[in-house]
Amino acid sequence: MTKSQMNKAWWNTIPLTEMSRGQWESVCDHCGKCCLIKLEDEADGQVYYTDIVCDLFNNEDCHCNDYWNRETLVPSCIRLTQNNLDQIHWMPPSCAYRRLQDQQGLPQWHHLISNDKKTIHHQGYSVKDKTIFEKTIKHNEDFEEHVVEWPLIEEKNKNQT
Ligand code: SF4
Ligand code: SF4
Repeated sequence: MTKSQMNKAWWNTIPLTEMSRGQWESVCDHCGKCCLIKLEDEADGQVYYTDIVCDLFNNEDCHCNDYWNRETLVPSCIRLTQNNLDQIHWMPPSCAYRRLQDQQGLPQWHHLISNDKKTIHHQGYSVKDKTIFEKTIKHNEDFEEHVVEWPLIEEKNKNQT
């Protein structure tokens, strides 16, 4: 990244709580990982990700099919806002909001750096084509059989900025 590009990296200098609505929305990399069904161990609070995705999810571009009504249609949908950043621990380590909150910057494949919203999908960092819809789960099927680690670990060995 050049010095000129660094100066434009507003996401590293503007705190999440002070971003404009447009800036806040543009931080989301649309990885889709927060749309995966998660299981919580009641004993220790550990959160496990599954490869089951919410039925409102759009696998083509990893967007929500009804973004503005999502909380009504899917009550379990957690809407991350500038007011509930304390819930960010639910998000995967690669979540752009969580990374910025933890002063880790954004990865090279993030669209604010690559200038291409498809980079994340082309490089395999999103959930695109890796999931099944919740509606396809059979009644007697155990969600625990769908617990996967890749939403949490696939970022560890990759280059970050
Ligand atoms: S309602 Fe939309 S944003 Fe919420 S989990 Fe489902 S697909 Fe994701
Ligand atoms: S995990 Fe974070 S960056 Fe990824 S889609 Fe969800 S809110 Fe956006």
